[in-house]
Amino acid sequence: MTVYNFGSINRDLIHEVPHMPAPGETLAAKRYSVGLGGKGANQSVACARAGAKTVHIGAVGQQDTWSLAQLEGFGVDVSQIRRVEAETGHAVIYVDPTGENSIVIQHGANAEQSLEAVEAVLAKANSGDILLLQNETPFTEETAKLGRNRDLFVIYSAAPFEPDAVSAMLPYIDLLVMNRGECEELERRNKMPLADIPVPHVLVTLGADGAIWRDQSDGSVTHVAARKVDAVDTTGAGDCFTGVLAAALSEGKNRKQALEMASAAAAIQVTRPGAAPAMPTRDEIDAALQ
Ligand code: ADP
Repeated sequence: MTVYNFGSINRDLIHEVPHMPAPGETLAAKRYSVGLGGKGANQSVACARAGAKTVHIGAVGQQDTWSLAQLEGFGVDVSQIRRVEAETGHAVIYVDPTGENSIVIQHGANAEQSLEAVEAVLAKANSGDILLLQNETPFTEETAKLGRNRDLFVIYSAAPFEPDAVSAMLPYIDLLVMNRGECEELERRNKMPLADIPVPHVLVTLGADGAIWRDQSDGSVTHVAARKVDAVDTTGAGDCFTGVLAAALSEGKNRKQALEMASAAAAIQVTRPGAAPAMPTRDEIDAALQ
């Protein structure tokens, strides 16, 4: 089965600063690096590295060969990424010596998606293929509807969390993925206890406490513990978990096996700095599962 991921692609411009800049202050960075980012790209990289055929649907700037080369280098099919007039999206990230970060996102090309282009790609998908969505692109709701009509298994990662967007997606998805904070916000803002969320399946990641998958039809809950590791950077842990879970499901793994694979992968990912470049390979995941 193929995983189609309609999602954002960013260049993360990472500045290590001696302290967070105060209003009006000009500050020199101690170190600077550029990495691939965006929730969409992170999930595609995690999924492809875990061994799934992963088609990323998205948009980058006309001149940007770097992002495509990065994605391709990680094994992602980039043939359905459009080049548009806007610049590739980016995130300006400040990280202070305590590890605290502060981020400004410029959506750029991520905001210039074409629903017709998405429709044309999904027209080639087969029943049972997986469609992965997050909240960093327009047309998510329309795309979920297309996925549902084509009998794809629609996984929606409800981040960044926006209560209205999440509510609008619920009728069209099969599996809702949230972290603990997002789940609490959904329950509070939408006055909707987890058990009442009207989707077939809900997955909640719980950081160092692992994750649960609840089948909403019968209330059964499958839990996976997180593996004990020394985490150095948890940026992208949720994206790693979701991308690898999609890869495992695309291979026909059952719920428990998919959770175990995703948990093993995320435990490796948090021991390395960065988001996309920290995603483990299938060999690394398999070795951890031995
Ligand atoms: P997000 O990155 O979206 O906030 P979480 O923090 O819940 O998501 O992390 C996602 C998954 O990553 C967890 O379910 C767990 O499997 C793994 N993970 C996160 N933090 C740790 C940790 N400190 N040790 C081991 N695994 C972790």
